[in-house]
Amino acid sequence: MSQFWSPAVRELTPYVPGEQPTEQVIKLNTNENPYPPAPGVGEVLRHYSTNHLRLYPDPTSAALCNALASTYGVTAGQVFVGNGSDEVLAFAFQAFFCHGAPLDVPSITYSFYPVYAKLYGVELRQHPLNARWEVDLEALADAGESSGVIFANPNAPTGHAHSLAALEALLTRVTERVVLVDEAYVDFGAESVVSLTERYPNLLVTGTFSKSRSLAGLRLGYAIGSPELIEGLKRVKDSFNSYPVDRLAEQVGLAALEDTDHFNACRDYVITTRERTRTRLEALGFEVLPSQANFLLVQHKIYAGDQLFVGLRERGIIVRHFNKAGLSNFLRITIGTDDEMDSLIEALEVLCG
Ligand code: PMP
Repeated sequence: MSQFWSPAVRELTPYVPGEQPTEQVIKLNTNENPYPPAPGVGEVLRHYSTNHLRLYPDPTSAALCNALASTYGVTAGQVFVGNGSDEVLAFAFQAFFCHGAPLDVPSITYSFYPVYAKLYGVELRQHPLNARWEVDLEALADAGESSGVIFANPNAPTGHAHSLAALEALLTRVTERVVLVDEAYVDFGAESVVSLTERYPNLLVTGTFSKSRSLAGLRLGYAIGSPELIEGLKRVKDSFNSYPVDRLAEQVGLAALEDTDHFNACRDYVITTRERTRTRLEALGFEVLPSQANFLLVQHKIYAGDQLFVGLRERGIIVRHFNKAGLSNFLRITIGTDDEMDSLIEALEVLCG
């Protein structure tokens, strides 16, 4: 511990993402897309003039904001872009949640929220999931005065998504605080709440190019909300780094957004593989939570999660195991290609045989 660290940094436990191995393995631990990005992305990279890199990017990222606006049927003034949705979330913490009141959050959700809360001095009020492992919207709505509400829909690492109607019911009850819905995984079968941003000025939705658009290596994320909330994010961003995303990322993002056929095909493939994998895991004695994301949270009726994690790792298959209360018996498995899933099932047949 260093005497030079601020009190928040002394107490900080940095988020540790899933392992990024250097050797050849089957990597099913960080919810990346197993399929390549749209072919247009390759075109952009092949023809990109390095001379463009001499110049700073567009400080408004207008082209990307416009493209996202037309993708989601909103105005460009309702869109904010950043370097991955993690960065957008950090700006949201600073813009909306740092004013002393606690922030309401499910007790099991994306583990980056507690990191940001600690870093920015935000007290978290944690609400257990309900008996079906779902985010308890009633509890969030009833929580009382706070700086806001944040959760992922579909939630991570559980995979369950609430319906648009259920989320709108929350929004009709929580009108005085910001409701941030993190839609990192929404494209794999859940309903987006973006259409509600027009009616609910306190709703902020975050999204990412990392999952359904296969661009985790690039760092592109966004938020959609009322112009008022977007202005709040811009104020933080301009004080931090006035260039939202780099020039190359913006061009690549545009190419990825353009190709809806590729997007739909990869998404459908992941969903089909997920459901096939669910059936096969259940046949092996796993409880598999319902998922509308590109991963499954599973626990075996007999074998412990940590042992299965080690057994799979020894066979060159990396999944995610969380050393966290309530989750320690579970594994979170990203949906890979059909071949990768075949290898996973073969390994589990041995381990659970
Ligand atoms: N939200 C959730 C729920 C996630 O699981 C992730 C990825 N780990 C993110 C946000 C961040 O995604 P990115 O920064 O790659 O956009």
